[in-house]
Formats: sequence, C-alpha cells, structure tokens
Amino acid sequence: RAKSVHRGTFQVFEARMDEDVRRRRALEQDLRGALDRGEFEVHYQPQVDLATESIAGFEALVRWHHPARGLVDPGCFIPVAEETGLIVRLGAWVLEQACAAAARWPVPVRVAVNLSPVQFITPGLPEAVAAALEGSGLAPERLELEITESVRLIDNDLNLAVLHRFRDAGIQIALDDFGTGFASLSYLRAFPFNKIKIDRSFVQDLGHDEGCLAIVRAATRLARDLGMETIAEGVETPLQVLQLRQFGCTVGQGFLFGRPVADGEVALMLGAAALDVACS
Ligand code: C2E
Ligand code: MG
Ligand code: MG
Ligand code: MG
Repeated sequence: RAKSVHRGTFQVFEARMDEDVRRRRALEQDLRGALDRGEFEVHYQPQVDLATESIAGFEALVRWHHPARGLVDPGCFIPVAEETGLIVRLGAWVLEQACAAAARWPVPVRVAVNLSPVQFITPGLPEAVAAALEGSGLAPERLELEITESVRLIDNDLNLAVLHRFRDAGIQIALDDFGTGFASLSYLRAFPFNKIKIDRSFVQDLGHDEGCLAIVRAATRLARDLGMETIAEGVETPLQVLQLRQFGCTVGQGFLFGRPVADGEVALMLGAAALDVACS
C-alpha cells in the first residue's frame, strides 16, 4: 500500500516536472523570436539626488510584452535569457535603446544599464558598449553600467581589464544589489567602482531593524571612505529618505520617487524638472 501511495505521489511529481519543463521550453522558444518581433521595451526609473531631490539619472529596466501572457517580469525571463545566451543580443539591444533614449532627453542626466555576467564571459562586450555610445552620440560620462556580484567576475583579469577600459573611457561603473552576494568586500578591493547600490532588502527594513540600520550605515561609510558614491534601491518611505540622508547616502531610487516609466514619460519628468530650474 505504502508503495502505491509513494508511486502515486511520484507520478504527480513527475507530471509537474513535465509541466515545468514544457512551460520552460515554451518560454525559451518565445524568447528566441521576441527581439525580432519587437516585443521588448525599455522602461526607466528615476534616481534622485537625496540632498536636492532633483533627478540624477534613470535606470533602464527591460520589459517583455508577451503576445499571450501579457507583461512578463524580467525576474522570470532574464535567467532564461542568460542560460540560453540570448542575453547577449538582448543586452546589446537594451544598451543601444538606453543610450539612444538618453541622448534625446531634454536634460543631460545619466542612464544606468544592467549588465549580465554572461555578457562578460562572451566576447564583444566592449564593442557593443562602444557601438551604443557611437550610434547615439551619448557622452560616455552619461552612461553607467550596473554589475552584480557574481562568481569570479572580478577574479578574472580579462573582465577586470574590460572594466578598467570602461572607466578610462569615462563610463561610470556601479556595483548592483550590494550586500546580497557573498563577495562584496573582495569586489570593492578588486575594482574602483564609482558607486555602490545598496540592495532593496536592506533599505526596506531600515525603519524597524537595528541590524539593517547598522549595515546600511556601515556600507555608506565604507563607500565614502573608498571614494565611492552610494545609491539606495527600493526607497518607499520618507522615513527611509531621512535615515539615508543622515548616513550620507547620496542617491535614492524607489517607488517613493517613481516607478519605471516608458521613455515618453521620462521627457515629461525631466521637462518639468527643467522648467522648475528655469522658474526658480
Ligand atoms: P535591479 O537591477 O536590482 O533593478 C531594480 C528592480 O527593483 C526593478 O525591478 C525595479 O522595478 C524594482 N524596484 C525599484 N524600486 C522599487 C521599490 O521601491 N520597491 C520595490 N518593491 N521594487 C522596486 P524589475 O524591473 O522587475 O527588474 C528586476 C531585475 O531584472 C533587475 O534588478 C535586474 O537585475 C534585472 N534586469 C532588468 N532589466 C535588465 C536588463 O536590461 N539586463 C539585465 N542583465 N538585467 C536586467
Ligand atoms: Mg540594476
Ligand atoms: Mg539593483
Ligand atoms: Mg536589487
């Protein structure tokens, strides 16, 4: 009896596995043609100078409009794009879009673009970045590349050389999701980032967790001592802004300041900002 129950459970489990594999294959298949069908769109989330509350830049975040499923979250398709290598073409496309959009904005603020570790291990990244800058005419100083901590990205001399080339060209380099990886401190020692982005998980619990408070305070201090700026992700409340300011964190990004928006709305947000400056 026990055996048959087990077998039954296993069959359900197997069926679910099959279903997962099928869904995954379908997603992969859809993803392959999505770029050519023009289903991706880049949205932009404002990054705000905490001292002046003016917009310092925008982070480019890719969106997938799936014909049947609607809007698919990047958290769901970026990993698949990475495993299949599609991230290389998609990443180059995002770079191109983001640089072209920023070059047209009415105020010369920065645009931050996420890079996948897979883009680093594939030849052609420096060329893709150079092409995006040349094609758009965007000044390299206005481009910021966000890199997450990942295994051996920084242990590799070739990757380090690429990062140095970017920095020498005037491009800004930010360490994304700081604190969630397992190598944060070795990363800071290995490469002179311009900025560290404190992960949302630490910012969220700022108000009610002494541990988070200590970590964010120490991270900001560490960044400052190393000559780096800090940006806090996932800022949702005015209290968080007060605390972040106290710690000397310079920039904030989160729903409090604005959700990611389409390019058309960026111009409006910046237009209003430009008007504010002109009137004051
Ligand atoms: P990330 O780089 O850490 O991006 C920030 C994510 O946090 C975005 O989610 C953004 O919408 C979300 N967020 C911002 N403010 C708040 C807030 O106040 N509260 C909450 N709860 N969430 C907030 P999104 O757009 O879903 O992107 C998820 C991740 O997908 C990104 O995390 C990034 O790692 C990846 N991603 C997005 N676009 C690209 C891309 O073009 N290339 C690569 N390689 N990865 C990308
Ligand atoms: Mg990012
Ligand atoms: Mg991040
Ligand atoms: Mg994050």
